[in-house]
Amino acid sequence: METPANRRRTRQRQVILEELRRLTTHPTAAELHEIVRRRLPRVSLSTIYRNLELLVELGQAQKLDTASGQNRYDGDTAQHCHVRCLRCGRVDDVPELPAGVVERHGRRVRGYRLLDWRLELLGVCPACLAAERERN
Ligand SMILES: [Zn+2]
Ligand SMILES: [Zn+2]
Repeated sequence: METPANRRRTRQRQVILEELRRLTTHPTAAELHEIVRRRLPRVSLSTIYRNLELLVELGQAQKLDTASGQNRYDGDTAQHCHVRCLRCGRVDDVPELPAGVVERHGRRVRGYRLLDWRLELLGVCPACLAAERERN
């Protein structure tokens, strides 16, 4: 039913998805909240969080459950590799890494039928490297 409350919720979800897709930083819910608030000043963090989870369920976003324990979200739902900074938690895409490696390996590994895969590279990001250089 098209009620004003429904319309507001649909509009909120649209704005959240638009902003998420525009970002390449794989934001946490809190980081996305800061950005979405510029367009929707009254939106709460729990609304952002709830909508992100819904978008993941709908297959319109993905959640990066990185080993850091920090939930980050990605508006790019295609399979791709990530590199994560061990100092600050920043995550970037590594599109040049061949996603086909796993596919070439076949759909079975050690008797497992593969359903999904994740590849996370770990390192130190340029900003953290520069800060380290400054300290030394
Ligand atoms: Zn860093
Ligand atoms: Zn990504």
